Amino acid sequence: MMTRKPPRIGRRRPDSGSHVRSFSDRRPQFFATAERHRQTADYAKTSVSEKTPGVLKIVPLGGVEEVGENMTIFEYENDIIVVDMGFAFPDENMPGIDYIIPDTKYLQENKNRIRGVVVTHGHLDHIGAMPYILPKIGDPPVFTMPLTAALIERRLDEFHLLGRSQINRLDIDQALNLGAFTFRFFRLNHNIPDSIGLSIKTPAGHVIYATDWKFDHTPVDNKPSEFHKIARFGGEGVTVLMSDSTNAEVPGYSLSEKDLGETIDRVFRDASGRIIFATFSTLINRIQQVINSAAKYDRKVVVTGRSIVATVEIAFSLGMLKIPPKIIVRAEQANRLPDGKVVILSTGSQGEESASLARIARGEHKTVSVRPGDTVVISASPIPGNERSVAAVMNNLTRLGAKVLYIKNLDIHTSGHAKQEDLKMMISLVKPKYFMPIHGEHHMLVAHAGLAKNLGVPEKNIFILDNGNILEIKSAEAKLSEKKLKTGLVFIDGLGVGDVGEVVLRDRKVMAEDGMFVVIMQIDRKNGKLFGPPDIISRGFVYMKESEDLLREVKHEVRKVVETKSQKPQEPNWAYIRSRVRDQIGEFLFQRTERRPLILPVIIEV
Ligand SMILES: [Zn+2]
Repeated sequence: MMTRKPPRIGRRRPDSGSHVRSFSDRRPQFFATAERHRQTADYAKTSVSEKTPGVLKIVPLGGVEEVGENMTIFEYENDIIVVDMGFAFPDENMPGIDYIIPDTKYLQENKNRIRGVVVTHGHLDHIGAMPYILPKIGDPPVFTMPLTAALIERRLDEFHLLGRSQINRLDIDQALNLGAFTFRFFRLNHNIPDSIGLSIKTPAGHVIYATDWKFDHTPVDNKPSEFHKIARFGGEGVTVLMSDSTNAEVPGYSLSEKDLGETIDRVFRDASGRIIFATFSTLINRIQQVINSAAKYDRKVVVTGRSIVATVEIAFSLGMLKIPPKIIVRAEQANRLPDGKVVILSTGSQGEESASLARIARGEHKTVSVRPGDTVVISASPIPGNERSVAAVMNNLTRLGAKVLYIKNLDIHTSGHAKQEDLKMMISLVKPKYFMPIHGEHHMLVAHAGLAKNLGVPEKNIFILDNGNILEIKSAEAKLSEKKLKTGLVFIDGLGVGDVGEVVLRDRKVMAEDGMFVVIMQIDRKNGKLFGPPDIISRGFVYMKESEDLLREVKHEVRKVVETKSQKPQEPNWAYIRSRVRDQIGEFLFQRTERRPLILPVIIEV
């Protein structure tokens, strides 16, 4: 079987002209993806579970070709550990799809060897896929920090899965032994509390895993990164550093959450009407800053949106949100207060249709309506693909008379990911023998690899993997395996998992663009002749009443296609007739209209 070796930095990919593959490169090409599935479908034979004593295998299932669906396998002999289990949001080429999760067939087949799932933090691109995947891989125990554990429990509860996997709370200063693995933990800054990095020791080598982090010397939760631990682990000798590449192309240091707090404070100082503050429900530090400013400027806080209410409750009960007494009020109470005394915390910073902010903007929110003089703050940068929905929400709010502040007219969002100077500092503290950039699209990983190279990591010691590639470490020597684990995208559509494939998606796309065209034919089973003219139903393609000529011609064409191809009247080949109708009527319609609707031939045998 053909397997492709991914490029190391500086070397050209053998089968393509360019190193840089963008997000969109990977997504919309259904045929290309299907091809990839075929190439790797036989993967049981190339299973990473072959007997390879003394070898640690690291396999990213997701997260190294995209921002999202982070999930990595660590396997040593008979033991498997999974780190993180996230989902990704679909792009506009995936109509009707809610989320994308990694393909976990390998783990399903090896579930008896899974010793545990270690989770770095509570963002959905790290925990979102757990309800879909945990039950399929035998509900292994989960190990994580208290806030993350509570968020995971809430998510599992929504799926009625609570109580199946054991969710264990870690003590950040205690080592955890799972099979041949010893995990130790260090605190990292991110925009959600309880984010941790991992020191992973095995007989084959020592890995430092640092995802979704930045260094912040003045974080909102007053708990800076544990530099002393990172340096100590570095001093023990590190075989591989795996580190967050999201902002590897951005020079400088990341803005401290404290600086952002000052910006938020200015908004509160200057606003006279109500403030509506939209952010991600999991940006707990941001929520804390809003509450701090509200307290300072004597405003009451309304929290609206199911997920943000739940997160605030969880974080408060764990002591991770400091909320002054009586500052939180219900929307009905707030409506009786002067406008200058109210701030509304809401979800919907990505323009999500059903989230609070969009409902407020459409005037459909039960208790909150926007009026002139209000200030709306959108405190998150749009995830690529969401820009237009965010803009639509902003337009609606502006029409209602609100002043809208967002990332372009106010520095109202700081990334939770390290920029170049912090990334370099991490590499210098850890001093790894090998370097593996993770968490990002391919071009981000390449940029991060460039930083490592400038810091003296030899080019041959830098590995840029694709999802499914296997890094093998033996006696602290790393090499890329010739083999590859099957990877693919599993689409989550409503409550269905994986039952929407490439074909369904392609049909949805065709229907969305060019509509559909149903041809119903009654065909005589004995002689293969049409019984009366075919019926045509068209939706989203042409307006039938104004296209009578076209429809008449189509009916004529259908008769031609059916009857010339039924030379053996005793046994008409229905599948063949359907495919001929689909092809020829498709071609005919394209010639007349330059559109390609989805054609659905229906045969009724009479
Ligand atoms: Zn994160």
